[in-house]
Amino acid sequence: MSAAPLFSTAAPVHHVAERITAARSVLILSHVNPDADTLGSALALGLALDARGTSVEVAFDEPAVPESLAALPGQHLVTRDPSRTADLVVCVDVASSGRLGGLVDILETARDSIVIDHHASNLGFGRLNWIDPHAEATVVMIAALLDELGCPLTTEIATDLYAGLATDTVNFRFASPAGHRLAARLLEAGVVADEVLRPISDTHPFGWLTMLGTVLTAAVLDPAGARGLGQVVVRIPLETAAGLRREELDAVIDIVRTSAEAEVAVVAKQTDDDVWQVSLRSHGALDVAEVAVRCGGGGHPRAAGYTFVGSGAALTAQLDSAWNVPLT
Ligand code: AMP
Ligand code: MN
Ligand code: MN
Repeated sequence: MSAAPLFSTAAPVHHVAERITAARSVLILSHVNPDADTLGSALALGLALDARGTSVEVAFDEPAVPESLAALPGQHLVTRDPSRTADLVVCVDVASSGRLGGLVDILETARDSIVIDHHASNLGFGRLNWIDPHAEATVVMIAALLDELGCPLTTEIATDLYAGLATDTVNFRFASPAGHRLAARLLEAGVVADEVLRPISDTHPFGWLTMLGTVLTAAVLDPAGARGLGQVVVRIPLETAAGLRREELDAVIDIVRTSAEAEVAVVAKQTDDDVWQVSLRSHGALDVAEVAVRCGGGGHPRAAGYTFVGSGAALTAQLDSAWNVPLT
């Protein structure tokens, strides 16, 4: 039998709502390299609390909002210099405190903190932890929280929620019936899906096409990899990524994962000399989060990642040995 967890990770939504209602100032934190789920969650909650008269800030450890997410409503709440004296810090879609980057110290000194997340690997690093691995996106939990708080779904709030829901479910492929019902509510609130999603997942500069040509030509398919189910690995070295946004690099995995011969797709994006951000995707037969955790990262069964320090060759060797450890 496993030991009892140090923290409960299943705080009910009304406890979360009570703590948020009691706070006069709230700082909402998103994870590094923010995606539409973490930023959509933060901005939707931020806009709702702002409308109730709570003092709200949204922050994450990056110099700016990614260009592809710059149209999400509520940008005026984002600050690069967050207050360290907020009554409450709320982390959204942040799987571990390390994913806060340099803002982790804010959490350590916060008067009160709540973690709202859907990563199964989240151990609960807040005072109050509401972690629901069954939620297909953190925005689904935020929508439930806003209902609990009695906050109306304005078009702006609905737009933020829709962006996170559509992207984390791979355009609703992994959305539950409840996720689809939420999507319908968001559309009824005025969301224009194509306008919201085109800049996020469907817009790249021409240079992306030539970069794709270069890295896909060098893709390696190992039919014996990933426990014999096949693995395809693509590396994006710094020089190939030069001049492109993070969005272009993060989109490569969606092309690579279409390989029929491979259960697992891997894209290793070089971020510095001997530093790689590794993205893993599976079609569902293998749990890539287990391998990512073994390599020091985290994620979901079908989408996970980690940071690797070392050469490109050492990266592949570590991954191969991570697959060869018997999975629990
Ligand atoms: P990505 O491949 O960057 O889209 O990430 C896929 C999933 O893996 C997301 O749910 C992330 O939260 C998680 N993830 C990615 N990189 C890391 C990391 N370095 N540490 C922990 N989790 C990560
Ligand atoms: Mn995320
Ligand atoms: Mn998410």
